[in-house]
Amino acid sequence: MTRPIAQARIVRVAGMCDQWGVDLTAGCEHRCGYCHFHRYQSMALRHEAGGADVAPALALDELLRRDEYPPALYLSPFTDPLAPAARGNLEALLRRVLPRNVSVGISTKGVVPRRVFRLLAEYPEQVLLFVGLTNLDDARNRAVEPGCAPARARLANLMLAREYGLPARFVRLDPVLPGVDDSPERLASVLDAIAGAGAVQVSAAYLFLTSGVNRARLGGAPYLPAAASYCTEACPIDGGTVYSVPLERKRATYEWLNAECTRRGLTFGTCGCKDLRLAGSSFPTSCSYPHLAECSAAGHKESAFRSLPMAGP
Ligand code: SF4
Repeated sequence: MTRPIAQARIVRVAGMCDQWGVDLTAGCEHRCGYCHFHRYQSMALRHEAGGADVAPALALDELLRRDEYPPALYLSPFTDPLAPAARGNLEALLRRVLPRNVSVGISTKGVVPRRVFRLLAEYPEQVLLFVGLTNLDDARNRAVEPGCAPARARLANLMLAREYGLPARFVRLDPVLPGVDDSPERLASVLDAIAGAGAVQVSAAYLFLTSGVNRARLGGAPYLPAAASYCTEACPIDGGTVYSVPLERKRATYEWLNAECTRRGLTFGTCGCKDLRLAGSSFPTSCSYPHLAECSAAGHKESAFRSLPMAGP
């Protein structure tokens, strides 16, 4: 068990469309094997040492006492805001910022409780819900994303979002594990399920390897070594080079997804920052908010807040 919480501070995240974001815990309990923030999670929660948390407890109070907030907050850049230890802080933050006209992008592979939906339902136009779900196979999900909710619970998030009148119901297939998730049959079953559950938009991005998320680290978990073996090609991303599937395979999958999403009444996009070679493709390549024609729109909206005194990072 991890101790409820940890940290809450507003950070501006250059690698995520330069958005403002808030992490509500010092590490993420979900312990996804492919997580690019794994080092940080491990330092904070000592996953490798049985999960005991080592981060200092910080109060949410300072954040909640602020007079001003950015017009949009991403929840959360490096953690899941609906991991069990984060939920209480999330509710407190939502109660504070939603009445102040702040938009929130909530990205989760956890369970959104009804009482959170009731809060969100009072401000439906300010809410973007991103549900992470790449594969309906719970054996795969338990092995790769051991702390996350089962697929049916993530689908229930979408159904409840529709029931509570939230229009922005998005699904992230991220990361897509090559050789594990990307057969047409597997992807079609996910698209069918999420379309039926009320999703309106899909974004997808293939697994990529970095110096931290590398073959050696992924070697201990089921599914991940097989997926990593397909990541053979150097790939330029925003800020460096990673290894991912060959461009031809990536393009073919994203083009297929684009067509299959359209057939189901869904829109599709991928994060262009995760492969700069995809610019100009037949599918949209805007970033964390692919519903925006240009992700820089969010940056313009937020620019007035650059000079606000923020705690951290
Ligand atoms: S839910 Fe997100 S932040 Fe948490 S461990 Fe998984 S990938 Fe990392």
